[in-house]
Amino acid sequence: MRSVSIYIHIPFCERHCAYCDFNVYTLKEQSDLPSRTVEAICREISRESGQLNEKATVPTIFFGGGTPTYLGADALGQILRTLRQHFNVEDNAEITAEANPGTSDAAKFQQMREYGFNRLSVGVQAFHDMLLRQLDRTHTAKEAEYALNAARTAGFSNLSLDLMFRLPGQSMQDWQQSVDTAVSINPEHISLYGLTLEPGTRYERLHAGGRLQLPDEELETAMYEYAISTLKVSGYHHYEVSNFARPGWESRHNMTYWDNNEYLGFGPGAVSYLGGRRWKAERVPLKYIEKSSADVNLAVEEEILPKEQALAESMMVGIRKLDGLDLERLSTRYSVTVESYYSDELRQLQEDGLITLRSGVLKLTHRGLLVADTVAAAFIRLP
Ligand code: SF4
Repeated sequence: MRSVSIYIHIPFCERHCAYCDFNVYTLKEQSDLPSRTVEAICREISRESGQLNEKATVPTIFFGGGTPTYLGADALGQILRTLRQHFNVEDNAEITAEANPGTSDAAKFQQMREYGFNRLSVGVQAFHDMLLRQLDRTHTAKEAEYALNAARTAGFSNLSLDLMFRLPGQSMQDWQQSVDTAVSINPEHISLYGLTLEPGTRYERLHAGGRLQLPDEELETAMYEYAISTLKVSGYHHYEVSNFARPGWESRHNMTYWDNNEYLGFGPGAVSYLGGRRWKAERVPLKYIEKSSADVNLAVEEEILPKEQALAESMMVGIRKLDGLDLERLSTRYSVTVESYYSDELRQLQEDGLITLRSGVLKLTHRGLLVADTVAAAFIRLP
């Protein structure tokens, strides 16, 4: 039976954060756009599932955005119910919602638990009010702690939180305080992201105008290494470049991406990858709703991945798993001897001390970990 993970994109936020280039919209006044988007997402779930030859099994569902908790719990529950009607959602499926401290309270979390959500990923970013204000976040450090406590009280036994480093004005002490506070809260999972300046964001404009000072590369590396060592001694398994978990609490949904397995995405701008085809849905909510109502195909970008490209992408995402990438399994999947196909790249990366290759398992070295994106890029072959 076909197994497919599902991603739901909720494209609304209370405020646009200074660094964010995701497909998100802020609504200035009371609007029925969110509820109409939810209706359209449900319609698309029904339509897309009808195009599969069989009722697919779903091991993981992830509500991201945007801010899923911008919606009420009933709206989130409505989407979940529709998914259950059209797919075989496994009894022990991992069902995650991203939550923003500013849009969540104990009552909402309680209802979400009742609807079947069993994992929350809370966007904290920093336990530091000045940094949060600079990022244009809508919450304080205390409110983030409150949200995490409220999630526990509501019965969530699987909590993740996100932290960011390389922030403008962030000192090593600031970062240590954020990491230490995160550990003291004892979530099952922690994700760490270094700030990147994405085109079109307020931060990118400020930086281009010379009005944004970022920590230098040396400090950025020291911040990452502090987190790695602190989380390790605190019992977290560093299982992916940016992700740490108590053993057994690794994100099953994100593993889908790192294993380059199939997924379906619903919601404005959501990407799907199924049967070697990848497509992206209409980005703008109003257009998404109109096309969905008119029963028009929502895919605005579509590609059939040649085998070489699919293999390259499997290498690029798989190398991020710190337990290693099994090249024999990839060889079977793509009917090619991966070690021979990539022999030049693998030799060079080994000579540079960035990877190890033992018994067919490819791993980043500590040096490789610090430049993981560069290592991943080595597997792209230009036509
Ligand atoms: S809350 Fe998240 S998705 Fe929304 S603008 Fe901020 S970073 Fe982007």
